[in-house]
Amino acid sequence: RIPLDTVELLYTEAGTYLPLIFETAHTVFTDDTGSTNDIPVTFAQGVPARYARPARALALLVQWVRNDFPQTIFVQLLQEDLLEFPELSGQKLSTSRMATLVREIFIGFGESRYESVINSKLKELEGRIEDTKNSEDEDEAQIERKRKSMERKHASFCQIKEEVLPFLALSRAVGLGGTTSLEATQEFLSRYAKGNNTFDNYARTSLNESISALHTIIESDQDSDHGSMLDWLQDLVQTATIAGVGPRPGCLHVAPMLGGGQSGRANIFIVGLTDNRFPGAGLQDPLLLDHERSAISNRLPTASGSIKQKRKAFTELLAQLRGSLTLSYSCQDVVTDHDAYPSPALLSIYRIISGAREGDVETLTEWLAPAETFAPQDSNANLTKDEWWLWRLCGPEAISNSEELVHEVFPNLAHGSHAVTMRSSKEFSEFDGYVPEAGPLLSPTAENGRPVSASALETLAKCPFQFFMRYGLRVHAPDTIEVNPSKWLEASDTGTLLHDVFRDYMREIRDEDLLPNIERDSERIHKILNEHVNHWVNLCPPPTESVYRHELGALQRAVNTFLIDETERCTSSCTPTYFEAALGMPSDGPGTPLDSREPVTLKLPSGKKIRARGQIDRIDQVGDEDAHTYEIWDYKTGGTSQFKQDDPFRQGRKIQNTLYMLMADQALKSSIDLNAQLLRFGYFFPSIKGKGERISWPKLELSEGITILDKLCELASNGAFPHSHDSKDCHFCDHTELSDTEINGLQEKMGDESNESLAPFRELRT
Ligand code: SF4
Repeated sequence: RIPLDTVELLYTEAGTYLPLIFETAHTVFTDDTGSTNDIPVTFAQGVPARYARPARALALLVQWVRNDFPQTIFVQLLQEDLLEFPELSGQKLSTSRMATLVREIFIGFGESRYESVINSKLKELEGRIEDTKNSEDEDEAQIERKRKSMERKHASFCQIKEEVLPFLALSRAVGLGGTTSLEATQEFLSRYAKGNNTFDNYARTSLNESISALHTIIESDQDSDHGSMLDWLQDLVQTATIAGVGPRPGCLHVAPMLGGGQSGRANIFIVGLTDNRFPGAGLQDPLLLDHERSAISNRLPTASGSIKQKRKAFTELLAQLRGSLTLSYSCQDVVTDHDAYPSPALLSIYRIISGAREGDVETLTEWLAPAETFAPQDSNANLTKDEWWLWRLCGPEAISNSEELVHEVFPNLAHGSHAVTMRSSKEFSEFDGYVPEAGPLLSPTAENGRPVSASALETLAKCPFQFFMRYGLRVHAPDTIEVNPSKWLEASDTGTLLHDVFRDYMREIRDEDLLPNIERDSERIHKILNEHVNHWVNLCPPPTESVYRHELGALQRAVNTFLIDETERCTSSCTPTYFEAALGMPSDGPGTPLDSREPVTLKLPSGKKIRARGQIDRIDQVGDEDAHTYEIWDYKTGGTSQFKQDDPFRQGRKIQNTLYMLMADQALKSSIDLNAQLLRFGYFFPSIKGKGERISWPKLELSEGITILDKLCELASNGAFPHSHDSKDCHFCDHTELSDTEINGLQEKMGDESNESLAPFRELRT
């Protein structure tokens, strides 16, 4: 072992090696409490301030202000624990809880939206608290719990408002420019930027000193307009270094290679002597090539001249060093997994020392000791626990029961290893989605089971595992709060908006006993569209005017397509009659005579029953005036690629057609007309993508659907929730796709008839 203060460590490239050395020093010298107050390492050129928390917080603050206060950056500041709110200390609201709550509301961006959106949330919570007081639900204990939880949330949002508004005001001042900006930044650093250790405090002081220096200069020049300070602050965070000191007793000293070696220490290590780092590629300036520079003046620096200088400086360094010198290079690029090669300087040194004047990279590699890897070959080389384990497992001394030992100490690795083994076996097990206990709970045919919707059944058919996650465990990815600069509304929001417009327009003209008419109603439907668009603008402001115009244009075209097509289609023998019929769910607005909170009970061919719910976009009465015949239409605001005229069910992935026909049939007969008959189910695609197409099937073509429904229910009753083995099902899924090996394994399980629980899925997919 060599004492730290006899060592100087020289690096060839600051950008790569300084962060690595800094992080390694922190890992190795962090004490049991996690504190890294006094790491015994001195850095000649200091450490970039951007590693310290206050500097990271300042960098994000500048981005936040510059980009019009996006919610994502505010949440990042909270989630990375870079902020502290002095008034909150002692109260229960932590910054991570604050981050969770702020994610719940949609602010998007814009300073003024923070207050208005938080106020709306507070109002909404107050309304819900009031509702619980008037609730007629019999489970009083549950209502009480709900109320208390909402009151707590309300109190938390009040605290957030109290903290965020002054913070916003201060941040706004950072964006104002001149001395106001600098003063606000200093207040931010002292009041809000969190710092945990000495290094953080150094960073804060260093940043403050730089800001004060600029403040003094600006103050003395009151007549000029100094403009925004954001670029300067960003530059400050990127370039400021802190705690740059010379060698000290007890400390390892770290310095850049060219310019280092001044400490007189007995042990010098140089890292990074690869061909691309030293002396570098020597690329010429493309704007003024070397020969052009030489022609202008021999005092202009050239690429070849700079390489010569580096070589000379390196030779001088070697000449001045005394004691032991260790040179090293990385022989593998761990990012690209390609071989890396030594610097020509290292090759020359090898030729001199070894006497192999013709030596090349190959002979150098043979001459050197085996490369050091992440797995140390010697127990003395272990710096961390992980390295100790790697040494034991990969070191020279073989261990016969290594797997057993690892599993004993790391039980989670043992579980993972067991799961991998089970997944590669033929047996369909809990590691593949077999949960028999969940069958009775999730089966739509279970007695008193949950009412089932078309989208739940279609998810089950598409990927039973996704169904289990979404409807069984209720696991879902956190809502995204990112603002896409080239997108305003998500596809689902566009769908909601257009559905609302079509519904409102149809209701209006039906109340006036009219049929759709393009000449008469173009203005009317666009007025309705504008009302809904304005509502969405308030809810979720568009990122730019041009994005707004573009998406508004698409909405207007969809509305035009809708009206043109409906004008042609609707006649006295085809009358739009019921809109958004709510079956098994609360009515939307005035509702229809078909509406019922009670789910619709449907009998399947197996004799089992399911309770279904859903909102049917449209039911049209067709045929003569006194005919009892109807059609169902569902609006789709995307394209037609998922729907096939000659394959209405796509192995159950599309089952809404059958489910709605069965539900509407019952609802019509029980509420409107005992002789009612449904003739057809169809989709109407009025958007640009859908080109105004209609795809529909007469009732007869949908007769097989009920058998598919039965199979889906049986699959859920079996508790069998395998992944889909068709990667096309994985678009728009938040889970990780299976690897090819896992898909092959799954297909084997599917093919093995002894996995009886998979029988319904097997039948559906073949
Ligand atoms: S990624 Fe594919 S297989 Fe995995 S849950 Fe999602 S849809 Fe299923």
